[in-house]
Amino acid sequence: HSKEQGRNTYNFYTARMNEDVAHRLLIEEQLRGALSRNELSVHYQPLVALDSRSLVGAEALLRWNNPVLGSISPEEFIPIAEKTGIIVSIGRFVLQKALQQNADWKRRYNTPLRIAVNLSPRQFRDDGLLPYIKQVLDETGLSPEHVELEITEGVLMSGHTLIDQALESLNKMGIGISMDDFGTGYSSLSYLRSYPFDTLKVDKSFIQDITVDPADLELVGAAVAMGQGLGLKVIAEGVETEAQYQLLATLGCDYGQGYLFGKPVDAEIFETTYLRH
Ligand code: C2E
Ligand code: MG
Ligand code: MG
Ligand code: MG
Repeated sequence: HSKEQGRNTYNFYTARMNEDVAHRLLIEEQLRGALSRNELSVHYQPLVALDSRSLVGAEALLRWNNPVLGSISPEEFIPIAEKTGIIVSIGRFVLQKALQQNADWKRRYNTPLRIAVNLSPRQFRDDGLLPYIKQVLDETGLSPEHVELEITEGVLMSGHTLIDQALESLNKMGIGISMDDFGTGYSSLSYLRSYPFDTLKVDKSFIQDITVDPADLELVGAAVAMGQGLGLKVIAEGVETEAQYQLLATLGCDYGQGYLFGKPVDAEIFETTYLRH
């Protein structure tokens, strides 16, 4: 009967919802102690110049391995860290690790690599963010032009009035600012005009089908032309095949990131694979 079916459906959904809520609470609970238990680490993925196919930098990507939950994707735990505010301390950890690592690599291999670090909206509500970044630059001796901060439209849409100021200050300090996941949001164009970006990262969802979908190829070509027209460098994210790489190079896209060039790996593997020649 439909009545019975309706009740079963209802039970099914509430059970699922409770499960999801319980899972999120468990992640939150474990995440609170993750830093002090040393469960977090930073991986590095190469950024490559498309014309010469040479290494120009790396993106720092957070990894979390927890004894109860196993290895959890940032796609899953970053939003929870963001909602609970835990991202503030975790974000500082990533900044410290990544900048220190880049300073070490620079000293030992004399590489002028740029290190890219993701910043989420909640981190900009922390008055201590800018002083912290200055402090880390100071302590590591890394120069600001070797640092790139990646933000998404979410940061700009969060409506926090200090974001303009924060981005201007970072820009004045000489730190680069990238618009991450370009194309996935709503009003990318006006943001590009209003904030001091120097790099545009075209989201991997647009790169995925460029060899088979002429519309996607057209969109990526337009994004490259527009970005460069505004004086920005353009990075293609999620480059997985040689054919995609060739097309992007033909379009004149500046940089690429993706499994074709290398997956995110820990600092030691990054060093042996890309720096120790
Ligand atoms: P994102 O900043 O756009 O980072 C790029 C993501 O694409 C990474 O996923 C990377 O592993 C993945 N990727 C790179 N090349 C390829 C490819 O060729 N194919 C495919 N399918 N994927 C590729 P990851 O490491 O899982 O991170 C996911 C997202 O989590 C990041 O997206 C970023 O938004 C967030 N995230 C990661 N680390 C941090 C962090 O330290 N702080 C903050 N706030 N967010 C972070
Ligand atoms: Mg990023
Ligand atoms: Mg991205
Ligand atoms: Mg993303």
